[in-house]
Amino acid sequence: MGVMQCNRKGCDNILCNKYSSYYGYICEHCFDDLKKFVISRVRMGSYDVPQMVKTFMETPKHSDLNYEGAIERLLEDMFTPATDTETDECNYIVEEILANCRRDTCY
Ligand SMILES: [Zn+2]
Repeated sequence: MGVMQCNRKGCDNILCNKYSSYYGYICEHCFDDLKKFVISRVRMGSYDVPQMVKTFMETPKHSDLNYEGAIERLLEDMFTPATDTETDECNYIVEEILANCRRDTCY
């Protein structure tokens, strides 16, 4: 059996059991990524699957991982944990209560 190197850009896998006469070989890992890639785009209203496959095969495997990490960090920065916000709000309420307390009855 010959080498069946994955045709996705940047993928070194040579154990591919899926083949397309148009796109070439694809390994299991890239095939899983491809499914997620296509599903996410169909959900957003794009239906040109052949174009998506073409784009996917031309997207380097490693840069994809970098995007994921960078986007995750960006989103983590955009959304602070909800429990912290609740704590802040509780602290604010407690401070308000203490302020009223001092002003009216406690002193
Ligand atoms: Zn691959």
